[in-house]
Amino acid sequence: MTQLTLHDSQRRANVPFQPLDPEHVRVYYCGPTVYDLPHLGNLRAMLTADILTRLLRRLYPRVTFVRNITDVDDKITARAAANNETIAQLTERTTAEFHADLAAMNMLPPDIEPRATHNIEEMVRMIAHLIELGHAYEAEGHVLFAVASFPSYGALSGRDTDELVAGARVEVAPYKRDPGDFVLWKPSRPTQPGWDSPWGRGRPGWHVECSAMSHRYLGENFDIHGGGSDLLFPHHENERAQSLCCFPGSTFANYWVHNAMLLVDGEKMSKSVGNFLTIRDVLARGPVEALRLLLMGAQYRSVLNFTWDGLEEARRTLDRFYRALETAGPLDVEGRPLPAAFLAALCDDLNTPLAIAELHAMATAALAGNKDAAADLLVSGRTIGLLMQEPEAWFRGEAGDGPSEDEIDALIAERLAARKAKDFARADAIRKELFDKGVTLEDGPSGTTWRRA
Ligand SMILES: [Zn+2]
Repeated sequence: MTQLTLHDSQRRANVPFQPLDPEHVRVYYCGPTVYDLPHLGNLRAMLTADILTRLLRRLYPRVTFVRNITDVDDKITARAAANNETIAQLTERTTAEFHADLAAMNMLPPDIEPRATHNIEEMVRMIAHLIELGHAYEAEGHVLFAVASFPSYGALSGRDTDELVAGARVEVAPYKRDPGDFVLWKPSRPTQPGWDSPWGRGRPGWHVECSAMSHRYLGENFDIHGGGSDLLFPHHENERAQSLCCFPGSTFANYWVHNAMLLVDGEKMSKSVGNFLTIRDVLARGPVEALRLLLMGAQYRSVLNFTWDGLEEARRTLDRFYRALETAGPLDVEGRPLPAAFLAALCDDLNTPLAIAELHAMATAALAGNKDAAADLLVSGRTIGLLMQEPEAWFRGEAGDGPSEDEIDALIAERLAARKAKDFARADAIRKELFDKGVTLEDGPSGTTWRRA
């Protein structure tokens, strides 16, 4: 079997991946806080998780992929109030939108998708245990994690304690023993969501949610924890501290995988810059597979720059791949193994640019008439969620401003009738009319097919 190598953020090196149990690989990814539509930055993390879990499923007999939903958060409370809707209405709606957008992107769903609000008891138990063990303390209705109680705090993100305390992201509060201490539990006002606890009615801090849910569904020790590089500190550092302190002798995640950020037109995406893009914004202008391919154009640890030209270029690349499949005709790839070079590229820390270069080589051979290469192309593409359509459907594409499929079919029928009646002038006029609207007709032995330019 090809050895998978991953860059582990904690070891700061590319290391061979050795699962705790080769019969069952366990992966946890931080999921969305559900108060708004998912954007391209979210999508990059989700796509990295998708490629990683698809590959793991190729390599190992069983994979459990857990990705949570954070459905209690002050951002949610504020947005629901601003929208004049209940928290439940907002979180149900945005969770459904998140699922719909990821399904549209050909993402495989997680095996388990726990919601924070369904796991409050687990969080309360963990917090109580951390207090018992001297790693947390109660102060003015809050429970705080005592960073000083955990000597290896900072080891994951590589920050030392002074740097952490000096950091602008550390919230200073009079009840903290140490400015770096972070909230495990906080009191709720009557208007805020809350649950009864030994420390009064309140709600969990964000970090403890993931510690509790990963423990409940994957155990004290599991294989891979992933997310965007923006989560490395403080979120993942704090998850690690909570879990290792709560379960002495445990290892928590054995490998930490972090994807780099995504830029839009060379700039950090932000609503104030006006380059903020949701998944829906992009899919309104380009096909799903083009967006997937564009996102795979950089290895996940490199910064990725999204541009509309890049999306168009990805679409043209897919035109080439689909043309290669079309040239080969019907292909049966059931049970076909992955080409070694393609698998090796993915196993090299998910080197998707190299994997795409392999797809190009297969397409070149397929276009030259090599049917085996076309089958390799199809099985490889589908492994990473590409080439999921029939070539004909791909080339028909989406109507956009052009004529609908029904209009095209009606004109093709009219043209056929004109030809039968030997009215070749009318038949040619119809062909030209469609051509001017971006639709090309091709007459073959089994009738007329069409494609959009
Ligand atoms: Zn998390």
